[in-house]
Amino acid sequence: MNVAATASPSYNKGNSYWIECIEAAMNPSLAPYAAHSSLTRGRLHDEPSPSARSEYQRDRDRIIHSSAFRRLEYKTQVFVNHEGDLFRTRLTHSLEVAQIARSIARNLSLNEDLVEAISLAHDLGHTPFGHAGQDALNECMQGHGGFEHNLQSLRVVDVLEERYGGFDGLNLTFETREGILKHCSVENARQLGDVGRRFLEGKQPTLEAQLANLADEIAYNNHDIDDGLRSGFLAEAQLDDIDLYGRYRREVERLWPGIRGRRAIHETVRRMINALIIDLIRASNDRIKDVSPSSLDDVRNAPPLIAFSDEMRAEAAILKDFLFCNLYRHYQVNRMSSKARHTLTRLFDAFAAEPGLLPPDYQSGGGKGNDLYRNIADYIAGMTDRYAMREYRRLFDIEET
Ligand code: MG
Repeated sequence: MNVAATASPSYNKGNSYWIECIEAAMNPSLAPYAAHSSLTRGRLHDEPSPSARSEYQRDRDRIIHSSAFRRLEYKTQVFVNHEGDLFRTRLTHSLEVAQIARSIARNLSLNEDLVEAISLAHDLGHTPFGHAGQDALNECMQGHGGFEHNLQSLRVVDVLEERYGGFDGLNLTFETREGILKHCSVENARQLGDVGRRFLEGKQPTLEAQLANLADEIAYNNHDIDDGLRSGFLAEAQLDDIDLYGRYRREVERLWPGIRGRRAIHETVRRMINALIIDLIRASNDRIKDVSPSSLDDVRNAPPLIAFSDEMRAEAAILKDFLFCNLYRHYQVNRMSSKARHTLTRLFDAFAAEPGLLPPDYQSGGGKGNDLYRNIADYIAGMTDRYAMREYRRLFDIEET
C-alpha cells in the first residue's frame, strides 16, 4: 500500500512546562506509565504548543472539527444509513467507543484526552457501506497496494485532510497516530517509519491505545445486539442461550417481572456493558500490578496489559460468533452487502477505465496518491453511503447529472 506519505521524518516537542500544568489540573491522578502529553514524541510538522489545552486535547479537537469526522454520520456501521434513523452509524459508534474508553481510563488513571482522541479517530478511514465496502475496495486495489481501513484512517489524519496553511493532514501527535494504527502488515510497517516500528519490533503501543481497541469491541458487540433486535434480524429467544446476554436478561426479569420490549433490551444491554467494563478494569489492574511498569517505555516493552479476564474473553468470543453467524451473515444484511460491493466495484472500474470521470482533485497530478489507483481509493473511501449511491446514479443513469 502507498504509505510513504504517512512516514515520520521528524518530530518537534511542545512547551512541556505549560502542558504539564494543564494536564495536572485536568488529570491529577495520571499514572506514571500513562501517556503524559508533556512527554509526547511530538508532531510531524513544527507548531507552537497549544496555550490552554494539552497536546492530546488539541488532537481530539482537531479530529472533531475535521471533514472526515462529520462524514461518519452518514457511513454504515452494520445497517446502511437509509435503513433506519435509530441504527448506529460510524459517528454514534465512535462516540460510544469514546464514552466507554474514557470511563475505563479514569479508573485506571490513564490519559482520558488521548484515549478519547484515538477513539474518535479510529474509524475515520472506513469506506461507505461498512466492511462490505472495505472488502470490495481491497479487492479492487489488489495489485495496487491493497486497501486497509486502519491505514486509511492514518492517511486521513496525516495526508488527506486539508485545513491548515502549513501542512496537509491534522498534524496529530505520535501517540494518537500510533493508536489509530491498530494493525499493520510487516510490509506496510516498514514504509511507515516511526509509527510502524512497533509492529517490526514486537512492542506495544500506549495503554490508551490498547484500551481504545477493546472499548471498540465492547461498543460494537453491545450495540450490534441492540440494533440487531431493533431490526428484527435477531430475536430475543436466540440470545437466551448466550450466557453474557441470558444472565442479565434473567436478572432484569427478576427485578421487573414481565418487562418486555425496548426497555427490557436496554436494561439487559446496559448490564452487559457494565460487566465488560468492570471486568476489563479489574483484569487490567491485576496485569499492571504484576508487571508494575514505572514509565511508558516499560509499557512498550511489556506484554499487552489492557485485557479482559480469561473467563470474560471466552464469553465475549461466544457472543461475537453468535453475531457473526446470525447478524452479519443474515440474508438481508447479505443482500445489502452484495449491493454495496457491486456499487463500489462499478465505481472503481469506471474511474480506472476513464480517469476523466474523476473530479479534478483526484485525477493524476491533483490527487495525493502515488498513482491513479490510490487516488480512486482515496476518493471512494471518503464517500458517505448516500454520496456513493448518488455518484453511482450520476455515472450510470443517463437522466442523472
Ligand atoms: Mg470501530
